[in-house]
Amino acid sequence: MTDTNTDRTASVIEVRNPATGAVSGTVPDTSPDDVAAAVRELRLYQPEWEAIGPEGRKEWLLKLQDWLIDNTEQLADVLQSETAKPRVDALIDPAFAVDLIGYYARRAAKFLADDHPSPHSPLARVKSLTVAYRPHQVVGVITPWNFPLAMPAIDVFPALAAGAAVILKPSEVTPLSAVELARGWAEIGAPPVFKVVTGAGATGGAVVGNADYIQFTGSTATGRKIAAACVERMVPYSLELGGKDPAIVLADADLDRAAHGIAFGGMFNAGQVCISVERVYVEAPVYDVFVEKLTAAVSALRQGADGRASAHEVGALANENQARIVQRHVDEAVAAGARVTTGGKRTGVGTFFEPTVLVDVDHSMSCVAEETFGPTLPVMKVADEAEAIRLANDSIYGLSASVWTGDKQRGERVARQLNAGAVNINDVFANLFNFAMPMGGWGQSGVGARWGGANGLRKYCRAQAITKPKLPTMAKEPLWFPYDMNKIIFSLGAMRAAGARGLRRIDLPALLRLKDGK
Ligand code: NAD
Repeated sequence: MTDTNTDRTASVIEVRNPATGAVSGTVPDTSPDDVAAAVRELRLYQPEWEAIGPEGRKEWLLKLQDWLIDNTEQLADVLQSETAKPRVDALIDPAFAVDLIGYYARRAAKFLADDHPSPHSPLARVKSLTVAYRPHQVVGVITPWNFPLAMPAIDVFPALAAGAAVILKPSEVTPLSAVELARGWAEIGAPPVFKVVTGAGATGGAVVGNADYIQFTGSTATGRKIAAACVERMVPYSLELGGKDPAIVLADADLDRAAHGIAFGGMFNAGQVCISVERVYVEAPVYDVFVEKLTAAVSALRQGADGRASAHEVGALANENQARIVQRHVDEAVAAGARVTTGGKRTGVGTFFEPTVLVDVDHSMSCVAEETFGPTLPVMKVADEAEAIRLANDSIYGLSASVWTGDKQRGERVARQLNAGAVNINDVFANLFNFAMPMGGWGQSGVGARWGGANGLRKYCRAQAITKPKLPTMAKEPLWFPYDMNKIIFSLGAMRAAGARGLRRIDLPALLRLKDGK
């Protein structure tokens, strides 16, 4: 744990800068017992956090927002030290966190307000109906390494705004930014309803074994294990998993915008974005020109790990393992006949991999079929829109997609045929900056979704249905014991009349048979 009991922790995890190999910091490898103790402690404080209501929580969340603004440079320094991202990329995490926390802090009262649905039938009007949204007590958030501050923020803030206590297990590859977030929470003097536990899979497993709701972001393989563990415990979960997002470039597209947009979508954060563009389908008439423009845009990118000055667009990969996957995908494609138009190999020291465009690829190649999570853009020529849609949908994943066209109606028509949780027309990542929209993967890209306005908070709540009589009550309801056949016939007939349509509303003979006991 980062805040208590570190002396009881058996070992520590060294965090290294992937560009230089230098140690950036150490964190405890938290034992499962300590995770269980942390969850127990959170349970003690959660009721009060829930009781202060969304307006009370707003004050603390907005204080944290101020802290994030005041500490942006320090946060970016820490983030760069554990990721070797360019400075601009490192500054995106805190800005994103500030935007998100403001959205949910200010709207929580509205989003969590009771619902009073209208009764489904005239008979039900005798009750006043209320749906109350009551938070799960402890939400466990488990995050990957690609956005060390934004990934925790993305789910921790809505869960806190909903009134839950939160235990966060950041990636063991990049835990330092999450530790900073816990420092911020402590520094503003907020109630102790947010804890960070650092460690690897066993620590994450203990979070899954103790929390009341699991919000996981990471690989599909780990997500599957977490789902199984949650089912075993009967606790709800939401999974944000891997992707292999397609981009479709139609012949009527603005090819300059498409090339620059897809270069950004494929290379931002060195391609280590769940919703990065991972494969491109281009209509035949514009294929050659598009490949030329994309190759030019990608080869112009500057690669390196800068300090506070923004000199580079593409940084290092998070670790050796990631660099090996990218190299394998490129090597296997080339061995099977693909051509590299730019990039294609590791460069310099550390885990840098050149921004790479591949052509002459197909769906039998790992660079098209598997998630790469690196700076590669495989491009395929397609005969027409229909073939593009068919190939785009030929994937186990369905996280997001983009369509590039001069005709926005056509873009939307194509979007509605794609199996993906989000589709951006003439843009990439746009859905990620729209918290009013759900962000969730289809297929093996996930279960459930984050955000989506009120749903982003209500997902961390249990909906409680409360009925109250609207009219003065009698000693007995017509259907209560002992059965009185006249009242029963009347009640069942009324239910049937209210629910059915036409002559089938009333089946008097059947009701009379009931009375006669036949
Ligand atoms: P990962 O699955 O290896 O690890 C994710 C987290 O799970 C880490 O904190 C890890 O310690 C923890 N973990 C590992 N085994 C566990 C277990 N048995 N029980 C509980 N926790 C366990 O993923 P990664 O390599 O860190 O991240 C890359 C993946 O994340 C990619 O597949 C990427 O697409 C995905 N991702 C998805 C989204 C999204 O919103 N859909 C966002 C970012 C990243």
